[in-house]
Amino acid sequence: LGPTITVGEILVELMATTTGFGFKEAQTLYGPFPSGAPAIFIDQVARLGGAAGIIASVGNDDFGALNVERLQNDGVDTSAISKSTDRPTGSAFVRYRDDGSRDFIFNIMHSAAGSIELSAQAKALIARAGHVHVMGSAFAIPGAGLAIRTAIEAVRERGGSVSFDPNVRKELLGSGNLRQQFEYMLQNADLLLPSGEELFVAAGTEDEATAVTHLHDLGIDEIVLKRGKDGATYFGATGARYDFHGFVVEEVDPTGAGDAFGATYLTSRRQGLGPEVSLERAAAAGARNVTLQGPMTGLPNTTELDTFIASTPRRTK
Ligand code: ATP
Repeated sequence: LGPTITVGEILVELMATTTGFGFKEAQTLYGPFPSGAPAIFIDQVARLGGAAGIIASVGNDDFGALNVERLQNDGVDTSAISKSTDRPTGSAFVRYRDDGSRDFIFNIMHSAAGSIELSAQAKALIARAGHVHVMGSAFAIPGAGLAIRTAIEAVRERGGSVSFDPNVRKELLGSGNLRQQFEYMLQNADLLLPSGEELFVAAGTEDEATAVTHLHDLGIDEIVLKRGKDGATYFGATGARYDFHGFVVEEVDPTGAGDAFGATYLTSRRQGLGPEVSLERAAAAGARNVTLQGPMTGLPNTTELDTFIASTPRRTK
């Protein structure tokens, strides 16, 4: 089957150089770094040798060029990235607090990232696709919902598959029909990649076992729960469970770990690897990515991933 495709925001990220609350003090910002959860995800797919494409929009400016060149260099099909003539490329400012949590200021809705069109190029990419990956954050963007549904229907018809990462930053919540979009994705996903409490939000219950059973009953074959530095757990519809307790690394910048993880899990599975080894590879990509500044800086290619797995200590529980 055809490439893995995704739909959503392409951004540049600018990082505060000090920790603390908010952005009110003058300080040096660091960047720009190519970013946007769907962009990080699809870049990781391509770096591991998976066929990959993205439906998105950038401005006619250096921030857009920075992103498109990065994706192209790594082998992503960028034909369905439209270039806006009247809006700049989207941006995100991030500042870390001392407890490791983050504040974001997003410039998405009034930027090129804030409008996704089902262009002729997007339709052509959809017509080739074998897998659709959807990030919850994309649903906040006008036009993205239509592109996502069109892609899912086309891929389903051809026997392809669908994955869903419910990732929504609190700063991006507020779109009235987000819950409806989530229900649609839960009905259509073969693979769910929640992080922490997103599992409970998706299932509508706070008990892990009940949540997993409920989601399997909806037809989701594989649930892979991300647990930050504590690793991740695989829950298969047949009852199989694998826990990976995590690699031991020094975290410098956590942004992008979840996308590196999800892309590596999915790509490993699409390349024919089993769930247990795919889980380990995904955890390695996530762990490696937090060791470097910038959401895409640490995304490994296959050789870098193998080297990391062979040389990095891991937790036993
Ligand atoms: P984000 O939204 O920042 O992209 P996320 O919340 O979706 O991330 P995380 O659980 O933070 O996802 O990270 C994904 C995976 O990466 C984890 O399941 C884990 O395997 C690995 N990982 C993340 N942070 C660390 C860390 N500090 N040490 C080791 N492994 C990590």
